[in-house]
Amino acid sequence: MDIKNYCKATTLEEAYQKLNEHSSNIIAGGGAWLKMSTSDHETMVDLSGLSLNLIEEKEHHIEIGSLVTLRDFEVNPSIQSLGKGYISEAAGLIMGVGFRNLASIGGSIIGKFPFSDIITPLLTLNIKLIFYPEGEMTLEEYLKSKGKLTKILTKIVIEKENGKGYFKKVGNTVLDFSILNIAIYKGIHGFRISLGSRPGVGTLAHEAMDYLNQLDAVKDSDIDFAVELVQKHVRFGSNEAADESYRRELAKVYVKRGLKEVLS
Ligand SMILES: Cc1cc2nc3c(=O)[nH]c(=O)nc-3n(C[C@H](O)[C@H](O)[C@H](O)COP(=O)(O)OP(=O)(O)OC[C@H]3O[C@@H](n4cnc5c(N)ncnc54)[C@H](O)[C@@H]3O)c2cc1C
Repeated sequence: MDIKNYCKATTLEEAYQKLNEHSSNIIAGGGAWLKMSTSDHETMVDLSGLSLNLIEEKEHHIEIGSLVTLRDFEVNPSIQSLGKGYISEAAGLIMGVGFRNLASIGGSIIGKFPFSDIITPLLTLNIKLIFYPEGEMTLEEYLKSKGKLTKILTKIVIEKENGKGYFKKVGNTVLDFSILNIAIYKGIHGFRISLGSRPGVGTLAHEAMDYLNQLDAVKDSDIDFAVELVQKHVRFGSNEAADESYRRELAKVYVKRGLKEVLS
């Protein structure tokens, strides 16, 4: 990667203007993924002078600056309290602490990485992404959006609620990308089931969620039916890490296990 100019922005407006000055200009989060890129950029815009590295707990939600590192995110008590710790647990499974001290939560979301162990669990919560100069989207809307992002992600807002979560990363080794990752959350809005590294990016299993959420009580046969709905409606594929049928089998085992865990 070749970067001609570096700009440490002093205001969000300056960062936004600089980003849109040239089509190859980019924002740097932690830079861990960008460093591996082979494309050239006219200017890299650094947001580190803009106090975007804070996590603030409010009465009904948690605000997370886009430059918060994965490590600060993982060990923050407000994040650890979400769903009895499954979000923190997921973040803690990414590479080592040194790496997580660098990679940012904003870069992890904006990258729409198909293997992401962050996007899959975050999809199971009520999340808003806040952009500069204006605009907000749910995480699901952002993942479906197309084209180059011309705005700056400033913060992520997570609704606080009392619930229980489950996360499972299946990989060949602890440092490998996931072959499949699964997150399940049961809170006041009902069940949310998300699967990522399918090998596509995290997605919600809406049909299974809708089925479970209209029940008064969930029996074992309902769990089995929800698992069938996941297998039928969520798209799985093959790549060098695993084939479609293996991923489908993994989903069957771990969605069932996860549903039992959040119900226990
Ligand atoms: C070797 C390696 C192994 C990895 N393994 C895993 C793994 O096992 N599981 C996992 O979940 N993840 C993994 N990741 C991904 C990692 O966790 C981060 O998600 C990734 O590095 C992106 O975060 P970053 O801060 O480095 O972003 P950057 O590299 O700085 O940026 C990524 C993208 O986001 C854009 N961007 C960043 N911040 C903003 C912003 N505020 N507004 C607008 N655009 C922005 C950048 O322009 C760029 O396009 C791995 C990454 C690497 C390099």
